[in-house]
Amino acid sequence: MPIYEYFCSKCKSKFELLRSMKCLNDDAFCPTCNAKGQKILSTFNSSSKGTDGGSIPMGGFNNCSGCSQASCSSCN
Ligand SMILES: [Zn+2]
Repeated sequence: MPIYEYFCSKCKSKFELLRSMKCLNDDAFCPTCNAKGQKILSTFNSSSKGTDGGSIPMGGFNNCSGCSQASCSSCN
């Protein structure tokens, strides 16, 4: 079972809990003061990317002037 880290904003302490995936979203309560803890994101960075990046460049793979396809093997 994975260990998840939580932070208690009431007593400013971290605590860890073993949780199965099934109760991953259940509330975790501080063992010190029994307040509800906030889950700390571990090294798994699942945050989404910024939305101000605009269009993504294709990395020069579609620089073929003979066709408009990304893969221009027919022109080479
Ligand atoms: Zn606490």
